Amino acid sequence: MKIVGIDIGGTMIKYGLISLTGEILASGETSTEADKGVENLFNKLVTIVESYSKEEILGIAVSGTGQIDGSIGKVVGGNDIILGWIGTNLVERLENKFSLPAVLENDVNCAALGEKWLGAGRGEKDFICITIGTGIGGGVVLNNEILRGDTCVAAEFGHIQIVKDGIQCLCGKKGCYERYASATALMRMAKEATGKDMNGKEIFDLEKSGDSTMKKIISEWVDYFTDGLSTIAYIFNPSLIVIGGGVTKQGDYLLDKFNESLSSKLGPNFKKNLKLKFAELGNNAGMLGATYLLLKKVGRI
Ligand SMILES: [Zn+2]
Repeated sequence: MKIVGIDIGGTMIKYGLISLTGEILASGETSTEADKGVENLFNKLVTIVESYSKEEILGIAVSGTGQIDGSIGKVVGGNDIILGWIGTNLVERLENKFSLPAVLENDVNCAALGEKWLGAGRGEKDFICITIGTGIGGGVVLNNEILRGDTCVAAEFGHIQIVKDGIQCLCGKKGCYERYASATALMRMAKEATGKDMNGKEIFDLEKSGDSTMKKIISEWVDYFTDGLSTIAYIFNPSLIVIGGGVTKQGDYLLDKFNESLSSKLGPNFKKNLKLKFAELGNNAGMLGATYLLLKKVGRI
């Protein structure tokens, strides 16, 4: 038996055939074509599942963008990047179409569950996941389950305010965490200082070569990042925070900076057992986390 795993992003859909132990046996990707709407998207999902029709399929596991009620597999809010996506009960539609069990959960929550199953959170029943990307996303695993909250939007760490009257955020507030500590924020800070568009790697390469402007920018950005992280640590008192996103390619070089900066902001009992780890599953975390949820749904894990 195998599982079809699908990760729907605003730009690309990643998919694969996954074993019950989480090996990715085959994979591919296709454009989301978000502007063509949800029916076009559903037809793409049908094509993906049918492409594995020769296999014995246990179910369909979907990780998706937006605010999702994973308990019923319905999109309940978010930006309407995919026209018609909000309000879609994808699980009901997939289960009716294929007569197979299906799950749908938010992509950051899926990433957290993927890391719990096979990555940096292996063996941990409680931990926090935070993703540094265009924005900052969060997932809280409590007693082996995702903390969903009353309307399934818990752990939106990106909108904790860290600067009073700061930069305007898309959410309506000013000074949100993700305006200062996301990868986008790092690139903005570099552009403001130099007038040049640079990606994260270029910024870190310059900093490592001794560039004083980049040293100052990365130091400020790390300071913003650990301001938010310390707030999260004070709320949850976790023993593990898993950090994901492209910047984690910097490895221990960056992890050491985070640890040093965070340590100065936490009281003894908050940092006593706290470990920061970088995520281990990369772009596959969403698909694997959705697979973990499906296995739970059908009682195989
Ligand atoms: Zn905000």
